[in-house]
Amino acid sequence: MEVNRDKQSKSGRNSVLSIVVPVHNEQDTIQIFYNAIENILPDIDAIIHLHFVDDGSTDATLQILRKLSDVNESVHYISFSRNFGKEAAMYAGLQQSDGDYVAVMDVDLQDPPELLPEMLREVQSECWDAVGTRRSDRYGEKKIRTWLSTLFYKWINRFTQTQLVDGARDFRVMTRQMVEAVLSLSENQRFSKGIFTWVGFRIKYISFQNRKRVAGKTSWSLWQLMKYAVEGMISFSTVPLVIVALLGFISFFIAVIAAIFIVLRALIDNKSAYGWPSMVTIMLFISSIQLLSLGVIGRYVAAVFLETKRRPIYITREEK
Ligand code: UDP
Ligand code: MG
Repeated sequence: MEVNRDKQSKSGRNSVLSIVVPVHNEQDTIQIFYNAIENILPDIDAIIHLHFVDDGSTDATLQILRKLSDVNESVHYISFSRNFGKEAAMYAGLQQSDGDYVAVMDVDLQDPPELLPEMLREVQSECWDAVGTRRSDRYGEKKIRTWLSTLFYKWINRFTQTQLVDGARDFRVMTRQMVEAVLSLSENQRFSKGIFTWVGFRIKYISFQNRKRVAGKTSWSLWQLMKYAVEGMISFSTVPLVIVALLGFISFFIAVIAAIFIVLRALIDNKSAYGWPSMVTIMLFISSIQLLSLGVIGRYVAAVFLETKRRPIYITREEK
């Protein structure tokens, strides 16, 4: 930003920090976010480039971005042809970013900008390749959401080698090297929380207290969050397939024992009309296992199907 550029020439700072900000219908928050960033400029030891990614907003978001980039040449934006989701927006922003260091941040100030200077210092000190953030609590969130996400982290960490940090946010600062690594995973169905862990590197986590968004409202419904959780599980683990195979094996084993039992019983005491309730129970049990297995396998087939189409992750309509 301009203010910073003047200071930069005086103090000889020469690194660039790109801040990637996905925005979807955020007309009420962009200006507040921009002001908050301007406020922390004196504490930041780098030139700042802002990269907004308009993820198919239908409100005045794009107009506001155009205006901002007209008055400040450090503000860049990409605008998608439709809503591609936050994951795609983050990918586009990382691609467009040019800094030695790159930060990813939400626009609603749920990612406190005042943490940014410290995060940058840690990465610049070269002790860490990335500094991530996690919420120490979930203040202001609906109970059901908190419960579901705790459950999600517990299970996904049990199922995958890629360990996810509970409460970790997408708010992070990375070196260029790590950004390139993240970009090299060009899969279509992106699950950043997993990708960021999968690429490795030395990551430090800073905790902060959860806060509510400053204005506007969240674009995520509970249903979308659940879909996101399933996608995460599918793209980072094949354990559900193992479980399904195990279920199949166990039910086969039970079936063999049951068959022997039934044949013996029919031979010893010839009352074959008995056992209708148990028959129905067994049939229901087996067919439900089959349906469940098909469902799980289907999810993986669908993932392969979507991935083989090699569709672009996003489509740009306008950029500056
Ligand atoms: N966002 C996006 N595309 C979407 C949904 C959200 O780019 O389809 C952006 C949104 O503008 C915000 C960030 O992602 O900057 C986080 O979204 P939100 O605050 O709605 O999610 P929450 O904090 O409730 O998880
Ligand atoms: Mg938010």
